[in-house]
Amino acid sequence: MSLIAVSKFHSTAAIETVISAGQTHFGENRVQEAADKFPALRKTNAEIKLHLIGPLQTNKVRDAVQLFDVIETVDRPKLAEALAREMDRVDHRPNLLIQVNTGEEPQKAGVLPVDVDSFVELCRTSLGLPVIGLMCIPPVDDEAAMHFGLLADMARRHALTTLSMGMSADFETAIRLGATHVRVGSAIFGDRPS
Ligand SMILES: *Cc1c(COP(=O)(O)O)cnc(C)c1O
Repeated sequence: MSLIAVSKFHSTAAIETVISAGQTHFGENRVQEAADKFPALRKTNAEIKLHLIGPLQTNKVRDAVQLFDVIETVDRPKLAEALAREMDRVDHRPNLLIQVNTGEEPQKAGVLPVDVDSFVELCRTSLGLPVIGLMCIPPVDDEAAMHFGLLADMARRHALTTLSMGMSADFETAIRLGATHVRVGSAIFGDRPS
């Protein structure tokens, strides 16, 4: 089980404190913010593993492929195709997770559960992408366990071994249901500065 410390909105100084405590995996939800903070941190902390956990626009694919070790938010064919092109171009292949919109929320990113099978197939077989797992962000008002269980079932069906699920409020439930990565922000850093 890996703990991803979600450092969005937090300063480089705050991140360094967490690195000093032995933390290696970090999550950021915006490409630009990660580009502003992490290249300098990596120079003195080569062991850092950086995860993109927010939506990725196709015009940011080049920066994202260069910057991140894991991109957790692959959720549409256009993005998958852009990632495949860029990874071939630069010969650098961050691991990928497919984000699933388990709650089928219209405003939320992620592949709908009904489309997961065909999207996994497209990414792995047609595009040859290094897809290693699934991630989800359950609806705030729902029982998270139901969504975590659903995601775990889908991953099992496709023999995908990485499950990124669970945040500060529900990471224990996520671990119980098979999370391999939990994404914890406020429980580590405190409230995010606004
Ligand atoms: C911000 C964020 C988190 C961390 O949330 P906390 O409630 O602060 O732990 C986890 N996952 C994603 C996708 C996020 O955007």
